[in-house]
Amino acid sequence: MIELEHYNNLKQELTGQNVKLIAVSKNQPVDKIKYLFNLGQINFGENKAQELTSKQSELPSAINWHFIGHLQTNKVKYIVPFVTLIHSVDSFKLLKEIDKEASKAGRIVDCLLQVYIAREESKFGLDEKELYEILTSTEFNQMTHIRICGFMGMATYTDEHTIVRNEFKYLHKLFFRVKTEYFASKPEFKELSMGMSDDYKIAIEEGSTLIRVGTYIFGNRVYV
Ligand SMILES: *Cc1c(COP(=O)(O)O)cnc(C)c1O
Repeated sequence: MIELEHYNNLKQELTGQNVKLIAVSKNQPVDKIKYLFNLGQINFGENKAQELTSKQSELPSAINWHFIGHLQTNKVKYIVPFVTLIHSVDSFKLLKEIDKEASKAGRIVDCLLQVYIAREESKFGLDEKELYEILTSTEFNQMTHIRICGFMGMATYTDEHTIVRNEFKYLHKLFFRVKTEYFASKPEFKELSMGMSDDYKIAIEEGSTLIRVGTYIFGNRVYV
């Protein structure tokens, strides 16, 4: 049921590298998640708030849940009490809501800012201007219940490796610039979430620290 050989190869590839595997379990049954968890996989990623909360309630509390999809502000309150890392903060409005709900829940929630790097209009993310608007605002600097741990990006869906590589390179550069300018005294600003089943190798070569891999280890998703 699981692509066990793929999973083991991937773990092997990551040995000795500063790269963590997020197993993207969206549209996959809880049995498969349990199976991987029993093999020692702790980090799982979901892209829908409802699916995440329902799976979280059924599965071991030792699992670290990563939210990787577009998050609507009215769904923030459902995931904030337990989520490990929100990779997909794509607006200031969303960040404010996370800060507010995290405060209510008595937590500090780790977040990544999702940066728009692809050539596809359909993908979410902040452009540089929006990113700097957040980073320089007084309101952002007064937030007490979020912790920005780095960036997330999704490359263009294409077979042309050069395009994908250049998009990852761009994000890595931007990451270093912003780290120097705004997070020099913040050791938690260290994550670069990039790379999926088709492009994780390129992403690792370009400095990824978190790869989000679904299909390659779980097989095709089941849409019901
Ligand atoms: C689904 C998804 C993934 C995993 O995609 P695969 O191609 O199945 O590895 C990674 N990141 C995000 C944001 C996703 O929505």
